[in-house]
Amino acid sequence: MKTKHTGPIKLSKKPMPSLWASKIPFGLGKIKPHHIRDTAKVVWENKDNLPYATRILTQGVCDGCALGVQGLKDQTLTGPHLCTTRLNVLRLNTMGPMDEDILHADIDDLRKMSSTELRKLGRIPYPLIRKPGERRFSRISWDDAMNQIASKMKTIEPKQNAFYLTSRGITNESYYVAAKVARYLGTNNIDNASRICHSPSKTALTRSVGIGASSCNYKDWIGTDVLIFWGSVAANNQPVSTKYMYAAKRKGTKIIIINPYHEPSMDNYWIPSVAESALFGTQIADDVYQVNIGGDIAFMHGIMKHWFDMEDKQHGSAIDHEFIKNHVNGIDDLKEQVTKYNWEQLEKSSGLSKERMIELAELLAKSKSAVFVWSMGLTQHRFGTDNISQVANLALLRGFLGREHCGLMPIRGHSGVQGSGEMGADPFSLPGGSMNDEGRTRVEKVWNFDIPDWQGDIVGVSLENALLPEDHERKLKLYYMSGGNFLETMPEPDFVKKCLESVDIRVHQDIIFNTSTFVDAKEAVIVLPAMTRYEQPGGGTSTSTERMVYFSPEIKGPRIEEARSEWEIYVDLAKRVKPEDSHLIDFKDAYAVRDEIALAAPNYDGIQHLKEKGDLFQWGGAWLCEDGICPTPDGKGHLIPVEIPELRKPEGHFYVTTRRGKQFNSMIYGDKDPFNDADRYDVLMNKEDGNKHDIDEGDAIVVYNKYGSFNGRAKFEPIKSGNVELHWPEGNSLIAKGVYEKYAGIPEYHAAVIVEKAETYYAHKDTKYVEKRVEELEMEIS
Ligand code: SF4
Repeated sequence: MKTKHTGPIKLSKKPMPSLWASKIPFGLGKIKPHHIRDTAKVVWENKDNLPYATRILTQGVCDGCALGVQGLKDQTLTGPHLCTTRLNVLRLNTMGPMDEDILHADIDDLRKMSSTELRKLGRIPYPLIRKPGERRFSRISWDDAMNQIASKMKTIEPKQNAFYLTSRGITNESYYVAAKVARYLGTNNIDNASRICHSPSKTALTRSVGIGASSCNYKDWIGTDVLIFWGSVAANNQPVSTKYMYAAKRKGTKIIIINPYHEPSMDNYWIPSVAESALFGTQIADDVYQVNIGGDIAFMHGIMKHWFDMEDKQHGSAIDHEFIKNHVNGIDDLKEQVTKYNWEQLEKSSGLSKERMIELAELLAKSKSAVFVWSMGLTQHRFGTDNISQVANLALLRGFLGREHCGLMPIRGHSGVQGSGEMGADPFSLPGGSMNDEGRTRVEKVWNFDIPDWQGDIVGVSLENALLPEDHERKLKLYYMSGGNFLETMPEPDFVKKCLESVDIRVHQDIIFNTSTFVDAKEAVIVLPAMTRYEQPGGGTSTSTERMVYFSPEIKGPRIEEARSEWEIYVDLAKRVKPEDSHLIDFKDAYAVRDEIALAAPNYDGIQHLKEKGDLFQWGGAWLCEDGICPTPDGKGHLIPVEIPELRKPEGHFYVTTRRGKQFNSMIYGDKDPFNDADRYDVLMNKEDGNKHDIDEGDAIVVYNKYGSFNGRAKFEPIKSGNVELHWPEGNSLIAKGVYEKYAGIPEYHAAVIVEKAETYYAHKDTKYVEKRVEELEMEIS
């Protein structure tokens, strides 16, 4: 019998001054977010639709991050759950249609606008089309639009067709139907936004412990001995998580942050819904380990190396032998791998001293429980899957899995990201499991048609396929996208634009315009107006990081007349392309979709009962791998030896990574980061590095490599020497295209770069100086 989640707990109101960030109320004089001011701004923005906005907040499931909240309640703590991220995305749901003169404006005028400006114009009111040479979008009927897409689909090979679904706001029902329709139309080319964020987490957790989701709950944070945030800035990306951190600290939990940058938001935070924290702030981090970008594997090797040293001195002093004996295999190979590295190698790669690595090793060895939380800092590497398996190695050696206050948690940043793969909108997955022979046979029984048996392409490869020769069997000719903006999320935007332009027909099913909507296509760009999750008849469900499947009801309010439920659009398309078998793809309503999900994805059994506001269930019970029994073929967790990656960072050069500021994923809500006052074009660098390169704070600098350049200003911040951080997506111009992690296909979002004062860079640009510098960088790397 699996243990069930026991529901929210009450947070004590008794003040705990030992946790305060400052004795001065409201953090006066400190750089911090202004929650009240931000909330007032949102109220103002939504003033034309305030009652509807209020109903969305009080009845709907948040379409912001995947922390998960239904109305204003969550399953972790009693009391209100709301944050400015949710308030910021609220306007997407309440605004009316775009003005006709903007909708049909000259394409070059539309192209001048940023995605932030476009987002504020209003909703897409009806289907649109633009063909080559046309200066404006024209209105088109739904019938015409769908027939044009269907006709194209009939003339191309299924491998020349691809689907993509973003993660903001999309429901499990839409992912499921899209996954089914893609296979019904003969293609496995379907992917989703999790490819570029957490795909290595799923891949690594599957190979290490047989699961593809968080093994534990947020409640497990509260009272665990050690809570580690590894490459995750949860305070910025999942703001209400700070309330759980506060609750954890009240119970004596130690919070450890591992990141190249000493992130101010993970240091001190003013939690608006906790009175003492709103007044005096909360010190979140107990300790911060500033690791090199890409140095995490070495750091974890260091921790394990010390554990093995401790074991040599005293058996049982670091490793949970009972757990290993019963539930884990591979310890000998892992030990061999770990001990082959000497401390010098580990220090060089991680950027941390042996003493610091030993410190964390001993803390974990002394602890009875720990939860590991991670995010893009670990996944967005060309060794992302190894990074996560290495975290699983730590948890398995200490037996921190499958019980209260223990676990592995890839914290998600988008409300749809957990459900998308679980519903099969992924080239490697089907509803309820992997895309393998067993999975195909299992799902074919429910769907009653054959699922194509070739490997579908990941999003990046689908895009690249647009540039294949015309007669290639995988030449991408039709790209059907539900949301998303590859121009702002994928490396090398110029290359991405070329790919988008090379597709015959591009379909943008969305609620708003973004910059990618205006890129030409060879035959047509077709824009389809989608409903938000709150408008969909029969409601929809969404799965949180901790596997809670929440029901979000249809909410009464104004509607965009021609917008349609996303899952219904997919069904309509399927019926037009293959009318002869349309009974196989028909759904009476959203309830029928959920009924079928329960059959096709057995772990989602329970979704069929979600019908009313407040309905929810957690799939898999409170803990996956409960009592150490992993859903792997042999029931055991696998320790996986991994190599320290070659960092490819020559002396005197930098390694670059990207970070988020005042934004929700790629949606930017403010030019200034409220936590460190950095603006979008500030390059965060270490002061000593600046001095070494004759760069002063505020100097105009150029960050460049052979992929591109970035013009910004130096901002000295406590970041690990040799590393620089730029905002995402602005920093994407420095990232190489086509470099994918070999197991999960996530693009590599890091690169070696040169940093120079703008005056030097521009003074020498004409004399081939830049080319020579890049050549040197490349030579030293290879
Ligand atoms: S923390 Fe995430 S789930 Fe909670 S309200 Fe904010 S955006 Fe929504």
